[in-house]
Amino acid sequence: MTRLFSNINTLKGVGEKRSRLYERLGITTPYELLYHFPRSYTDYTQVTAVIDAPINEYCVLKGTIVRKLPEQRIRMGLNIFKAIANDGTNNFLVVFFNNYYAFDALNVGYEYYFYGKVTGDLLKKEITSPHVIAGDSKELFQPVYSLTEGLTGAIVQTNIKSCLQILDSEPIEILPKDIIEENNLCGLTEAIKNIHFPQSKEMLDMAKKRLAFDELLTLQLGMLMLKGRNKQKTAIKMSSDTNVEILYQTIPFELTNAQKQAISEICADLCSSVPMNRLLQGDVGSGKTAVAAAACYFAYLNGCQSALMAPTEILAIQHYNTLCEFLGPLGVQVCLLTGSLTAKKKNAVKEQIQNGEISVVVGTHAIIQKSTVFKKLGLVITDEQHRFGVEQRAALAEKGGSPHKLVMSATPIPRTLALIIYGDLDISILNELPKGRAKIETFAVTGKLRERAYNFIRDRLNENKQAYIVCPMIDENDNDLIAVTTYAQKLQEGAFSGYNVGLLHGRMSSADKERVMNDFRNGDIDLLISTTVVEVGVDVPNAVVMMIENSDRFGLSQLHQLRGRVGRGMAQSYCILVTDNINDDVKHRLRIMSSTTDGFKISEEDLKLRGPGDFFGKKQHGLPQLKIADIAGDMELMKTTQMVARRIIDEDSELKLPKNGGLRVEVIRLFAKSGDNSLN
Ligand code: ADP
Ligand code: MG
Repeated sequence: MTRLFSNINTLKGVGEKRSRLYERLGITTPYELLYHFPRSYTDYTQVTAVIDAPINEYCVLKGTIVRKLPEQRIRMGLNIFKAIANDGTNNFLVVFFNNYYAFDALNVGYEYYFYGKVTGDLLKKEITSPHVIAGDSKELFQPVYSLTEGLTGAIVQTNIKSCLQILDSEPIEILPKDIIEENNLCGLTEAIKNIHFPQSKEMLDMAKKRLAFDELLTLQLGMLMLKGRNKQKTAIKMSSDTNVEILYQTIPFELTNAQKQAISEICADLCSSVPMNRLLQGDVGSGKTAVAAAACYFAYLNGCQSALMAPTEILAIQHYNTLCEFLGPLGVQVCLLTGSLTAKKKNAVKEQIQNGEISVVVGTHAIIQKSTVFKKLGLVITDEQHRFGVEQRAALAEKGGSPHKLVMSATPIPRTLALIIYGDLDISILNELPKGRAKIETFAVTGKLRERAYNFIRDRLNENKQAYIVCPMIDENDNDLIAVTTYAQKLQEGAFSGYNVGLLHGRMSSADKERVMNDFRNGDIDLLISTTVVEVGVDVPNAVVMMIENSDRFGLSQLHQLRGRVGRGMAQSYCILVTDNINDDVKHRLRIMSSTTDGFKISEEDLKLRGPGDFFGKKQHGLPQLKIADIAGDMELMKTTQMVARRIIDEDSELKLPKNGGLRVEVIRLFAKSGDNSLN
């Protein structure tokens, strides 16, 4: 079993230079080369008759060589080789530039498949620099690989064929036999052979299914192992006699049933010595902060400190204010810890955290994670989790022994998917919005109606309500910045001259941002012109209009987040989506936005539109990169592998049994690539 795992340069035809090229593709062993799957296939079963072959398109022609023409020297260094072939419908020319070997390999009277671009004219068609395979070949699906400079498809094919020869003498299998049988899978060796050189379409499908199965199973085993390891740690076991009811009197509203349910699930977790590892999923405006407050209060009553971490300073400040309002009257000391505090203040606060005077710390991730020492940290809550991946979750676990962890996500995703992407977490869902919320009315308009939209906003401002206008920034370069700044200025001097217009963008200093948000919250600013920094979490219930310029530039989920900034109080709220780009795709998206405010539905649509690759870009979910499986595309396989993974882990939590050895190697390999080494 060693040749597959030895250095790639032990492969015939691979020397120092080529092995360095392979390294660029992340390939260091023959085994890894075998897992360099084709990007696509050329299907030689789809033969086009010459008389039907469209000019300037890629086609497969199949013909017999009639005659080879003498070599033509066009100029120094350019030789053209031509052969006449016939497929029974017509003659065609096979043309090679400077490729004597390919030309020489053709024999008169023999039949070949040619794949390439058809040129010439209707009477005399040519196929130029085609890929050629023998007419009696059984390998009619030819692999097409992702290449790097210096590695051609032909080289990779040859090298992979050498690997497949090794595989013949060293067959591999990582799945226990019963799993293969129960799931009607083909063997791994067979799958690898057929993923590169499929014997038929059916065999290719079998191979894909098998390899996708392995990949998803490996992924889920890794997640379950993470979860299992978490369970081996111990956290502070809080008392189940704790009563948080008194908190409900300081919270200025009646909690929804979903909130109460989530709180009781969280409190139950806190009463175990197994660290909580829970995801709180809820649509925008579902009231996650109140749930977080209850959890902090529960910890406080048990003499434990809590940390609430937000991704931005604006949000940290907002949470700080909310927690002070809810918990302050009950005597809980809450503090704010962000980068913009003076060093002196920061040190003072940190000292109070260390000596236990402060019970709840609210701040940005970086600050809390880095250098803060707690006296008795019992609970860590992270908000807007969709920006953090598995790695960060693992890193967090190391903080202060093993505190209980709650992550809050405002990106609703279908539950089945959540189970997979957050397979290392337990999940609570807020599937109910607070009572009395009016549906947000959403309109999509073109720029022609902008003045009317301004009128509409002015009417709302005259009712003492507030509004946002969001302008997208592609990135924070100066041009974009000038664009929002002038936009705000223009409105202040023109359409909104009698009102207070504020400006908020990511490049402002924290102090300035805080001042603007405060002014907006207090009602001193009527209309806030902002970039997407208001996207997550900002909560100003008196704001009732969200107008979004160039709304075609945003994805559905992002529009949903932005829209979620309004409709947070009792008053009727509105969302105005402005765009002058009205192609079908944009129309379709805006129609979805106008027809529903259900975040779970919107995320499903978003997933369909964007495809899983984009939707679950690595940055969003933080999972290892998958090669062949499609996280969202194949739910059935997802569910099956999840069940199988559970069964395996129940029996063998660390994959120590010999029969699971192959899987263990794969799990480590997959997670090592993601930079998360915690599974080694
Ligand atoms: P999100 O889940 O988006 O983080 P927030 O926690 O910011 O939502 O809450 C949204 C708004 O709804 C806040 O203004 C909050 O005070 C209010 N809210 C939360 N829970 C309730 C409830 N049960 N009844 C009425 N209003 C609520
Ligand atoms: Mg929130």
